[in-house]
This record gives sequence, C-alpha cells and structure tokens, in this order.
Amino acid sequence: MRKWECTVCGYVHEGDEPPDECPVCSADKSMFVEITGDKSTVEQETAETSLPAAKPTMATVLYTKASELISTYHLHPITVHTPNGIVPMAIIFLAITVFFGFPLFETAALYSLVFVLLNMPLVIFTGYEMWQKRYQGTLTTLFKIKIAAAIVTVLALSTLIIWRLVQPDIVTVPSSGRWVYLAISLLLLMAVGVAGHMGGKLVFGSRKN
Ligand SMILES: [Zn+2]
Repeated sequence: MRKWECTVCGYVHEGDEPPDECPVCSADKSMFVEITGDKSTVEQETAETSLPAAKPTMATVLYTKASELISTYHLHPITVHTPNGIVPMAIIFLAITVFFGFPLFETAALYSLVFVLLNMPLVIFTGYEMWQKRYQGTLTTLFKIKIAAAIVTVLALSTLIIWRLVQPDIVTVPSSGRWVYLAISLLLLMAVGVAGHMGGKLVFGSRKN
C-alpha cells in the first residue's frame, strides 16, 4: 500500500492515489506527496522556499523569539482554554440568572466575558503564528472557518459586554431584548465550539479507527 502525506497538515492517507481533498484540512490533491521512506524531498522543498536571512533588527529578533516560544511550548492550545473553558461557564451563569433569578451569577458572567475578550489578542496571535509556521498560511476551508469563528467570537463578546454596560438590567429584567442577548451568547458558544473542534481535527486528525 502506498502512503501519501498532506504537506499542509501532515495527514497520512493510505491508498494507490492521494484523496481528492484532504479530510483534515481540505487541501487539494496536489498538496499530497508520496512517502517513500525518507522525507528529504519534502524538506528540500521547504528549504528552497525560505527567504535569505536579512539583517535582524530588535523587532524581528523579538518576533522570532516569540514565534519560537509559541510553537515550542504549544501556546495556542494553552491560550484557547480561556475561551473554550470560560465561555460555556459564563453562559451557564447567564442561564442561572434567567431561570432562577440569582443576579450575582449574571455579574460573574460579565467579568468572565471581559476576561475572555482581553485574552483574545493572545489567542488570535498564537493561532496565526501556528498557521503560518506549521501550515505555511495555506488558506484552506478549515482555516477559513477558524478565522470566521475568531471574528464572530470577538464581535459577539464585544456586543455582549457593551450591551450589558449600556443596559445593566438586560439579563435580570425580563424583556424581548433579553432573548436576543441570550441568542448572541449562544452564537458566541457555537463560534468558540467550532474553532475548538477544527483545532482538534488539525491536531488529532479525523481518525475513525
Ligand atoms: Zn491536510
């Protein structure tokens, strides 16, 4: 059985021919290379495309260091725990206030959402770096979905926080606006969930065995 590796995400396909589309990252058939035992051909290609070294400035040195830290210590999977862990909790807090009427939980939800929004630049920066470094910034469907999910996350977070500051009783007092507010919070949960699911697919592949 011949083996084919996706040069975008590293997915390995077994068969006489590479798949039409990578099941993990949606890369085209042309992005697959046959694994022949030694990976030298792939490495050579990567070496050729890298740019000649320019004189490093202070900014580029810092940037390179940050970029190395991000991939060495897997800072993206670490930072994504902020939205992935705290957003579901914040929404449970909002639901507790709506259905059981404890206003303190709603305040906790607000602080949680502010904390997540403040962390988003780090989540997006580390994610962007990994995308450039590991996947050469290839814009496949999977990455388009991840970028869209990040945009929806930031917009939904900002809307929820600003709305709550302008109208402090939006969750505590029943109104039709309250349901819109809760719908936006569910949209936020979905966006965070989709981005996390896609990340899991990239890291662990879509193995079915
Ligand atoms: Zn792939």
